[in-house]
Amino acid sequence: MGSSPALATCLISADPAIRELQTLVDKDATRALQQVLTQLQSLERAPQVDAQRTASLYSVQAQAYSILELYDDAKNAASKGLKFASLASDPVHLDLLSTYAENVFDAAGMDSAIKSIDGARASQVKGSLADTCLLITRGLLQYRQDRTDLAIGSLTQAYRASTAPEFAAPRINSASMLSSVMRSTGDYVQALALNQEVLDWDTRQGATLSLSVNRFLRGKILNLMGQYAAAIGEFTEARKLSVQLDDTQGVAFADLLDCTARIELGQLDLAASECDNALRAFTAGRSAGEVKETQGLLARIDLANGHAEKALYTLNEVLDQGGADLLPSRVASLYQWRARANAALHNYRDAYTDLTEYVRLYAAANDAERSRAATALRARFETDQEIERNILLQRELGVSQVQSQRQARELRWNAIVVTSGVLVIALLIYFLIVNRRYRQQLVKLASQDALTGLPNRRRTAELATAALADATAAQSPLTIAIIDMDHFKIINDRCGHATGDFVLKEFARIGREALRPTDVLGRWGGEEFLLIMPDATLDLALASLERVRTLVFGIQLPASGAGLRVSLSAGLASSLKFGRSLDELIARADSALYVAKNAGRDLVRVADESYLATTAIRRAIRQ
Ligand code: GH3
Ligand code: MG
Ligand code: MG
Repeated sequence: MGSSPALATCLISADPAIRELQTLVDKDATRALQQVLTQLQSLERAPQVDAQRTASLYSVQAQAYSILELYDDAKNAASKGLKFASLASDPVHLDLLSTYAENVFDAAGMDSAIKSIDGARASQVKGSLADTCLLITRGLLQYRQDRTDLAIGSLTQAYRASTAPEFAAPRINSASMLSSVMRSTGDYVQALALNQEVLDWDTRQGATLSLSVNRFLRGKILNLMGQYAAAIGEFTEARKLSVQLDDTQGVAFADLLDCTARIELGQLDLAASECDNALRAFTAGRSAGEVKETQGLLARIDLANGHAEKALYTLNEVLDQGGADLLPSRVASLYQWRARANAALHNYRDAYTDLTEYVRLYAAANDAERSRAATALRARFETDQEIERNILLQRELGVSQVQSQRQARELRWNAIVVTSGVLVIALLIYFLIVNRRYRQQLVKLASQDALTGLPNRRRTAELATAALADATAAQSPLTIAIIDMDHFKIINDRCGHATGDFVLKEFARIGREALRPTDVLGRWGGEEFLLIMPDATLDLALASLERVRTLVFGIQLPASGAGLRVSLSAGLASSLKFGRSLDELIARADSALYVAKNAGRDLVRVADESYLATTAIRRAIRQ
């Protein structure tokens, strides 16, 4: 409520000297105060008490304090003045009463102030200047009490009564107050129009302080309407006026609001420098609420710039201090931004907690706002007697209430849906990742031999079946080999089972390195392997196996294996000759292996006997 502007002098004095002071109050309250003080001192020294003049001077003094937001001083001055002007018919009395009431902020004080205003109004002519001024004071107090509906009633009545030229002051006061009330109810178009009326008046009067306040308010309304560039224009003007007035807090407010609008426009660097300025000034001025608000904005900028951790740190700091000095909607948005920061850092659980809190606070703040808007709507209908009697419109009002309730419900549901959506997506992604890894692991486990890392028998058979099908379809040669380690039992017996294992692993490594990438070496069982060689003629296959055989010969055995050598025997079969089925192909290779073993081992035999000679020669050389 601090954003409602102070009211200008409503009841202009008939005394020209006082009238001059009253005008000065609106232009430069501090200078007016000095002049009033001098005049009061000279009056005290006078032999005779001039009650009328003293009361008037106190009334000017109270008004000046009020504009400078020195509420206690304003009340004191008004109380002193009232002692010199106790007659209810005296305009100065009414003026003092009003100024006193305008500076009351506690609940009990506001209640009794409204009573005294109503008491004074009882003896006024309805629609008179005095009555209208009192009505505005009552509206201000009702607004301050959060009785928006009553405030609109009082202020609209005063505004409508102030059409004559001598009603300029109440017209501007009621327009100014109504603009604030309309903004709070969400009626921005009305708020803007009323604000313009006040700005024009301020400009004509040269009321710099009031002008700067009303430019701020105009910018705020434009911000709420989403017209950020226009809002920045107003804040810039307000800032200039604040500088002119030496008002450092005013300058800080201009920077803060400028920062807000620039964030919306995506001008993050400019926003950051404005917010930094504001933060410095608010910190120096010990404005705790404004400091928090500015920090919240800086966190938003950090987040937008990808510095989620820094944003989270700031938001933690702000939220840890509590939000008692912030509007509920501001606190809600701080939780929302922390949720975003947490989500950016993959802290989904914290993000969810923050989002839940955001939804709770947002729904509460929104409910309050909606009910305020609904009562404002009702108040505007009620101010007009004819409309109040119109049953059709009353029904319409009922409909709009139902609508606003439904909208509130939908909004809450939307928030819940969005929140749970975010959570569900996060969980799904998590499970998907975990599940894919798990499945990959299972597939691997199911098809891989644990010792050698080669495809196991099942997988090798699958690959062989597929390779044979491909070869048949492409009419290309597929050669397979059954490889069996020679005298493996002896290696195991002499060197131990671990060495046997080592030899098998070494064989697998050699096979992977020496064979073509398209060849598949699989563990067929024990110390037996199946080699699948797509697109390989017998010549090529034989050459490959010779390479492997030579390399295997170099596997080092421990001392206990002295005199022993690792060797292998293999049987080859080509699909071109025996490719009717995999079983036949393997059986042919197996019998070739049998032949190799029988022929003395360390041999490769082909199911076609003509290849025997070459291998036998090599074997002779090696031995
Ligand atoms: P050859 O084939 O030359 O006739 O003689 P061999 O000694 O290799 O004959 P056989 O097939 O009878 O024996 C194979 C041996 O391989 C038996 C078994 O203990 C051993 N063996 C099978 N699998 C493994 C294994 O995973 N690790 C070790 N260390 N030994 C194994
Ligand atoms: Mg063997
Ligand atoms: Mg064997």
